[in-house]
Amino acid sequence: MIGGGATGLGTAVEAASRGLRTLLVEKTDFAKGTSSRATKLAHGGVRYLAQGNISLVREALRERGLMLKNAPNLAHPLKLVIPAFRTWEIPYYTIGLGVYDLMAGKLSLGRSTHLGKSATIGHLPTVEQKGLKGGILYFDGQFDDARLAATLALTVSDLGGTVANYVEVVGIIKKNEKVAGAILRDRETGSEYEVSAKVVVNATGVFVDSVRKMDEPESAKMLAVSQGAHLVLPKKFLPGTSALMVPKTSDGRVLFGIPWHDRVIVGTTDAEVPEPVDEPRIRENEIEFIFAEAAKYLANDPTESDVLSVYAGLRPLVKPAQSGSTAAISRDHTIVTSKSGLVTITGGKWTTYRHMGEDCINRVTQVGAFKSVASRTAALPLHATTAAPEVLASPEHLAVYGTDRKKIEALAASEPGLGDHLHERLPYLVAEVVWAAREEMARTVEDVLNRRTRSILLDSTAALAAAPRVAAILAKELNHDDAWQKKQLEEFTSVARIYQLRPS
Ligand SMILES: Cc1cc2nc3c(=O)[nH]c(=O)nc-3n(C[C@H](O)[C@H](O)[C@H](O)COP(=O)(O)OP(=O)(O)OC[C@H]3O[C@@H](n4cnc5c(N)ncnc54)[C@H](O)[C@@H]3O)c2cc1C
Repeated sequence: MIGGGATGLGTAVEAASRGLRTLLVEKTDFAKGTSSRATKLAHGGVRYLAQGNISLVREALRERGLMLKNAPNLAHPLKLVIPAFRTWEIPYYTIGLGVYDLMAGKLSLGRSTHLGKSATIGHLPTVEQKGLKGGILYFDGQFDDARLAATLALTVSDLGGTVANYVEVVGIIKKNEKVAGAILRDRETGSEYEVSAKVVVNATGVFVDSVRKMDEPESAKMLAVSQGAHLVLPKKFLPGTSALMVPKTSDGRVLFGIPWHDRVIVGTTDAEVPEPVDEPRIRENEIEFIFAEAAKYLANDPTESDVLSVYAGLRPLVKPAQSGSTAAISRDHTIVTSKSGLVTITGGKWTTYRHMGEDCINRVTQVGAFKSVASRTAALPLHATTAAPEVLASPEHLAVYGTDRKKIEALAASEPGLGDHLHERLPYLVAEVVWAAREEMARTVEDVLNRRTRSILLDSTAALAAAPRVAAILAKELNHDDAWQKKQLEEFTSVARIYQLRPS
């Protein structure tokens, strides 16, 4: 398996759970690509319903329900409210969302309903009240994307598979013109290895075309890459537990304001970009667009000085025969097998990662002529997941560890300093850094502050201030010297600046 995002990890869990010998390699860190940069919604996609893509919505609603069942400490139901400023919007969206509820069937998270003006304000105390007629309440799921990725990686290991971060595929090995393995480069040491494999899966997100070229240099591009960006604001901009959903922005898309880990995420945008990059940057027009839309729907307009963090991600969208705007391209997934047997899977959404994995391993079973084994991931709880109240209890950020939470709390109590907060504006404990290095394959300061904890997203300036302490802990845990710490801090500083709206 090449690629440690939602798609590769979901496929690796599927493979290992069906008894296949599984190796997944990721060139940077798990979820460092698109999979840590989502809006964090486990959703059927109300927008796709409006586009008439019934099968995609039905599939995503089922997968939304399964994600909440199989990882209840990482995903939970979320109330979303559409504020209505025109009277016709209330029956229009209430009927549409009624269909959405019906399509979820037994996995429905709650019934949507219309709200009067004061009930709408009850859910969204900061909503713009001028001209407000009422609202529509509906349910979707919300999750922590990078933490779910870490949990999937640990699940592959639990199932007997192997996962490695900082290992890049630099070539495809062929025997008799059939794919027979890959050349791997360890990015920490520079060493190269050859591994043989009966089937190789290319799950490299926006990079699938470059891996396809390693197999067939003449292969045509299958992807259009589209960027989406978010701003992270303090909780005061949406102080309740309900999210704000704008069904039609000035460019005809949807925009969300979502409470997440005691902050508010606002986004997203959608514009085609020419080439994929590892560290996409928010663009000026995206910043202006999000501020302008947020100001229309929030009573107090956010300003630049309110922004705690910004982030951008790249969508791997499979090009249709006739390409128009990227917003109109389907979010269905696609699996293609090359002449030499390389299986490429891309497109889709985080929400449908499990189903993508299931479909992909069905294809792998054919390509590798493996014994057919039924999928069991629909009812497979992931690593350490639980709905036990003591795990979900406050402080909320520790819930993401599931049953491992107890071990982290014990670690925090085991030595002076380990129970300290990393920074006064961040919820995370020093013990979580140690845990990430020992148990969750964190290799760099950025792994810890961006994905094992979500420090950069919650407060990029606080994350920068916490970085020297994290570097020192990692150096001790992973046996590195002072030069390593210095280099780590330089690298982290340059990445963290990308998450700052106006880096100083
Ligand atoms: C702005 C935005 C918001 C979104 N919001 C949502 C949402 O709310 N809900 C939802 O369900 N979906 C959402 N999505 C979609 C979802 O995030 C993506 O569909 C999903 O994360 C794609 O995962 P992936 O594994 O295919 O790609 P990636 O996460 O990019 O993973 C591919 C990995 O392959 C690695 N790689 C590349 N080349 C190599 C190589 N040669 N060797 C080894 N590794 C390699 C990369 O480093 C990368 O980590 C959103 C997407 C965007 C951009």
